[in-house]
Amino acid sequence: MEIKEHLLKGANVSFKKTPNTSGEFKAGDLDTIILHYTAGPTKNAINTLTNPRVKASAHLVVSRDGSVTQLAPFNLITWHAGQSQYEGRIGFNNYSIGIEIENDGILQKSGNTYRAWYGATHAEDEVIEATHRNSTSKEFWHTYTQVQIETVAEVCRLLVETYDMKLILGHDEIAPKRKQDPGPAFPIDRIRNGLLHADRNMNDAEESLKIMTVDAGKLNIRALPSTTAEQVAKSLQKGQKVKVLEEKNGWIKVRVPVEGWVFGQYLK
Ligand SMILES: [Zn+2]
Repeated sequence: MEIKEHLLKGANVSFKKTPNTSGEFKAGDLDTIILHYTAGPTKNAINTLTNPRVKASAHLVVSRDGSVTQLAPFNLITWHAGQSQYEGRIGFNNYSIGIEIENDGILQKSGNTYRAWYGATHAEDEVIEATHRNSTSKEFWHTYTQVQIETVAEVCRLLVETYDMKLILGHDEIAPKRKQDPGPAFPIDRIRNGLLHADRNMNDAEESLKIMTVDAGKLNIRALPSTTAEQVAKSLQKGQKVKVLEEKNGWIKVRVPVEGWVFGQYLK
């Protein structure tokens, strides 16, 4: 597979346009992938997510056979996250690609079979018993197919490369009170740890950086170690923490997370 002009291309990829979008992402905003399950068959999911009367959509639906249906190009905002919040940011539709994965979610055991909310039944080899990350009790979950997991991982890799994604999150992580998808049957930790490894290394390296505190009412942060250099951001505030990158002639280069030079004597 490959991404060309915001479209996924490949032998098992098709496109069915959804009208449920709200224009293009603002420049620089798209940096997250949100994973979901459909809680039902692909066909129903696509019908719902392309129905103008239903205020929902997503970018991709990944079926159990590994085929992919794209509903909107990756530069358009779709409506999959709903009320959502993670690390201080709200409204994840405006920042994310939504991937729906065909899966029935939580199942109820009945005799030798396991029943989905809409009546479909699954044999034991399509079920795991596991505890959701937001719960303390075990439940039965519909498993994902191997080809589905591989396809989602490959799509995530392409998206991370093409759009410089910073986060891969489950719907259950940005709306933990409302949502359980993609749930414990999907190996989201393994996929994001593999794909966002470069970021993790950067974070690891950052851990060893010295932290200092701004000790002036306002502290200018500049592009170069000079009082005539342009400011790269709003002045830093007293008490603000900065990471120290390097020092030169009494100036200190810091990350806040923008990087710039400040007068060293105003840090402690
Ligand atoms: Zn969801």
